[in-house]
Amino acid sequence: MSRRPERPSLARWSLFSVTWHLSVWGGWALVVAAAFLVQPDIGVMPVSFWVIAALVLLGELRPVRTAGSFDPQGVVTSTAFVFAIMYLWGLWPAILLQAGATVVSETAQRKEHWKLFFNVGQYCLSILAAWLVMAAAGLPEGLHGTTPARELVGTDLFWLVPTWLVWYLVNNALVSGVSGDEGVSFRAAFVEDFWYYIFTTAAVCALSPLVVLAAEASAWYIPLLLVPMFAVHKTARISLDEQHKALHDSLTGLPNRKLLLRQLETTVARPGHEPFALALLDLDRFKEVNDTLGHHVGDQLLELVARRITGALRPDDVVARLGGDEFAIFLPGVEHGADAVEIAQRVRGALEEPFHLEDVLLELEASIGITLSPQHGDDVEQLMRGADVAMYLAKELHADLEVYDPTRDHNSTDRLGLLAALRRAIDNDELELHYQPIVDLQGDETPRVEALVRWNHPQRGFIPPDEFIPLAETSGLMHRLTAFVIDTALGQVAEWRRMGLVTEVAVNVSARDLHGSELARTVSEALAKHRLPAALLKLELTERTLTADHSRVLDTLEALEAMDVSLSLDDFGTGFSSMFMLKRLPVSELKVDRSFVTSLTTVEGDLSIVRTIIDLAHSLGMTAVAEGVETKDVWDALRSLGCDTAQGWFVSRPMAAEQATAWLFANVGDGRPLHLVRDAGIA
Ligand code: C2E
Ligand code: CA
Ligand code: CA
Repeated sequence: MSRRPERPSLARWSLFSVTWHLSVWGGWALVVAAAFLVQPDIGVMPVSFWVIAALVLLGELRPVRTAGSFDPQGVVTSTAFVFAIMYLWGLWPAILLQAGATVVSETAQRKEHWKLFFNVGQYCLSILAAWLVMAAAGLPEGLHGTTPARELVGTDLFWLVPTWLVWYLVNNALVSGVSGDEGVSFRAAFVEDFWYYIFTTAAVCALSPLVVLAAEASAWYIPLLLVPMFAVHKTARISLDEQHKALHDSLTGLPNRKLLLRQLETTVARPGHEPFALALLDLDRFKEVNDTLGHHVGDQLLELVARRITGALRPDDVVARLGGDEFAIFLPGVEHGADAVEIAQRVRGALEEPFHLEDVLLELEASIGITLSPQHGDDVEQLMRGADVAMYLAKELHADLEVYDPTRDHNSTDRLGLLAALRRAIDNDELELHYQPIVDLQGDETPRVEALVRWNHPQRGFIPPDEFIPLAETSGLMHRLTAFVIDTALGQVAEWRRMGLVTEVAVNVSARDLHGSELARTVSEALAKHRLPAALLKLELTERTLTADHSRVLDTLEALEAMDVSLSLDDFGTGFSSMFMLKRLPVSELKVDRSFVTSLTTVEGDLSIVRTIIDLAHSLGMTAVAEGVETKDVWDALRSLGCDTAQGWFVSRPMAAEQATAWLFANVGDGRPLHLVRDAGIA
């Protein structure tokens, strides 16, 4: 696995090393000097000095952590007390206390030694800078260093405020100076931190003259300042907890989608950002576990899965739970597909070991889709979509894992523009439905219709469904499109019903729709909205949709069947349904693919294929529909083969709603038996 070595520029490197040496050597020289200079006075320091000193230590040990902060260090309240010491007794005691408190607290936090060295130096230099302002204002030895000792007056604010500002700027500059090893420019780090800490720092600094005033009144008043400090502390803590909740998954404790997206956005926002891989992982049979063993076992399983995934990764990698059984893995520093695949395989391997839960051994499989940045782009949404496309492909091919391949993605290059247009089209009513009749071949039952979507693009004109349906399928737009079609089709059926025409409508659903739980909800909501019985809706699905993920698709189909929605297997004969699947599926109709039907009477062999399919349907207790009926010969042949219903240009082309209404009236109403019309060859 390779992390791309970061190559900071020479200038950046020099700045880093100057900052580093300055802080460590300069800062520590100050500390040593302070130790010698303060020593003789230490015994004669008043009580208020010791009270403030104790609070310096306390402040260091309990830093205020602000919401939004990724910096575990936070802002330390001790700064207020260190300033007070400096104002009262000058530079050296302040340096000594600051250094002592930092060493104690960072040792307690087990910080690395080099960080500790740097931090002590950085704080001491910042105090020196603030002291220079105070010295320039004529108080080099502090308020108590003058004879007689001075008290704080209103005009002192003129130099107090600048001490804070200078302290903040120097401190920030030193920290930003060494942030170069993380690939961030000095300027960017400086500006970001400046705004980030400004309010908490201002709050802490503004307290420092109050410490002085309290100390002048009586040492007893100083600890009272802990009360507002504690309040700041508590509020910060609460907001931090809130933020943690908003950005993490409550079940597994992993980052959630929002936090992951935020981290990805920050990464790609850096100019010439480091490469990374993004993997989406979806458990293949999780739903089965949930349904058969109950949600609490499902939850336990997810927790274990989360732990195993995390365990298979490096400490810097980020695992997020996106919802349900979907996880995302952010792999910073991974540049090549092969490296990402290696890691993904390790994750899959970790999940392969059976899970022992409630006395059952559970085996899980996962499909993983991977995208790489910058190779596949810098746009987070596009990267997430790419990983999703790859994962979906992995599922379909039973391939465990797939790296995104733009050449296999229908949406790459110019198609992305079309995708955006499609999203708008769904919102702006540019899509409309046409209806094609399906009529009874044997008796004269009322015709029904199949709803077929049409896209009228304002510039490009009519775009056939075969071009934009695959686009919607790989983009997450599919369920919105399907929801639109179901709603519109049922709205039309309701309108026909008000006119006295009771017509069933068939709607095409894609593989994507059957994958989630949305379809069943969409259907029941639309039926309720239009006050229609489920028997008036049929859903057409293709054999291809069944190969992807059986258990989930079956779940959806069973939910639909329970609602009384009937199902039809479209394009039958072109896929690979097993007899086993056919028997198990709650399907009530087979739709013979039009490639066999159109040439039924002309191409040898097609007749026997069609006959076999019709017989198969009947022996399974289903009905058979022939689509693509273009001529009277084919119509007659199908009739004698015992096919139940027919659809095709011979009967009618798909028609816009208004024409379809007229057609239905002409062929259902006023006592004209439909088969007579058809036998006369009226199209
Ligand atoms: P499909 O479900 O097999 O739909 C039948 C297609 O055959 C329609 O093409 C229809 O216009 C065409 N057709 C009807 N009669 C004849 C005929 O006699 N001869 C010939 N050669 N063709 C005939 P269309 O409307 O272009 O739709 C193409 C495919 O797009 C559909 O195939 C379906 O898979 C998909 N599709 C259409 N509307 C939707 C939709 O709302 N949702 C989804 N998921 N897919 C849709
Ligand atoms: Ca269809
Ligand atoms: Ca078809």
